[in-house]
Amino acid sequence: MDEFSLIQTYFDRPRNGVDLGVGDDAALVSVPAGDQLVVAADMLVENRHFFADVDPRALGHKALAVNLSDMAAMGAQPRWFTLCISLPEIQPEWVKSLTEGMFSLADAHGVALIGGDTTRGPLTLAVQILGTVPKGRALTRSGAAEGDDIWLSGYTGEAALAVQSRYQGFSLSEAQRALAEQRLDYPTPRVSLGLALRGLASAAIDVSDGLLADLGHVALQSRLQAVIQPQYLPNRLPQSNLLAVDWLNLQCTGGDDYEICFTASPCHREEIKVLSATLDVPLTRIGYMQTGDGVAVIGLDGQAQSFLRKGFNHFE
Ligand code: ADP
Ligand code: MG
Repeated sequence: MDEFSLIQTYFDRPRNGVDLGVGDDAALVSVPAGDQLVVAADMLVENRHFFADVDPRALGHKALAVNLSDMAAMGAQPRWFTLCISLPEIQPEWVKSLTEGMFSLADAHGVALIGGDTTRGPLTLAVQILGTVPKGRALTRSGAAEGDDIWLSGYTGEAALAVQSRYQGFSLSEAQRALAEQRLDYPTPRVSLGLALRGLASAAIDVSDGLLADLGHVALQSRLQAVIQPQYLPNRLPQSNLLAVDWLNLQCTGGDDYEICFTASPCHREEIKVLSATLDVPLTRIGYMQTGDGVAVIGLDGQAQSFLRKGFNHFE
């Protein structure tokens, strides 16, 4: 199988909402009048983001999921994506599983693959995603106001727990392992939440590098301090099994969660609770914004807790 039959077999498929897709020198799409185009990209590199023995279906899912998560954090409607892939060799079964993982998530969100590039080289996937948002209504990192609540969707720390148990031999119960592995390999991008937060959230970010690191971007760009109240951090794993691990550290700095952390005025609390029930997405108030800078984790004793690292940083 060569480059062109690979593209034709696995990457060229019927799609809606595209004027011209895979097969020409470039794709053509139409942005609805009054909308802005929202563009994001995320790359997955072997030995950096995953290992050679990764399940290709999970890899395909994750490469798209992390990009959908960026759309969610902007309050954008994801529409199209491109896939640039470099492969050491063509293994048809492997590519088939990769695309199955990717397209089942794509279909669930109505996004279409409209192009890309395929080369031989070290295994790397770069997805670029394109979405739309009514002009001026995107959620940014800079809009938080003093006194706003800080909210978190879902749970943090679980994907990092899977990494710890997989690579550092930390033992978990079967149920915990299954949950943590699912969170690491098949993250759920919070797209409908992002759309529903337009007009409700003052700022938003997706938690990919670690809650403290990511919330730090909101604090910096909003010129405020973010205060996390650790007693409110959502938790669904039995604590007795987590004694050997610094669980608060994983929740605050673990990363790979792909949850949405957002700020909103306290006057929206009831609406946000209703939204949580409607979307069936846990939404928890975990802190507040105040004057100052950086992120502080302040326990019930009023003391700020310190952490070795705030999150993942490729060049740290
Ligand atoms: P060009 O040489 O003009 O860049 P290519 O031969 O690289 O064209 O690609 C041919 C067509 O296949 C283009 O429409 C391109 O967008 C698409 N394509 C190539 N690789 C991929 C991929 N991995 N996923 C989706 N579309 C792809
Ligand atoms: Mg090309």
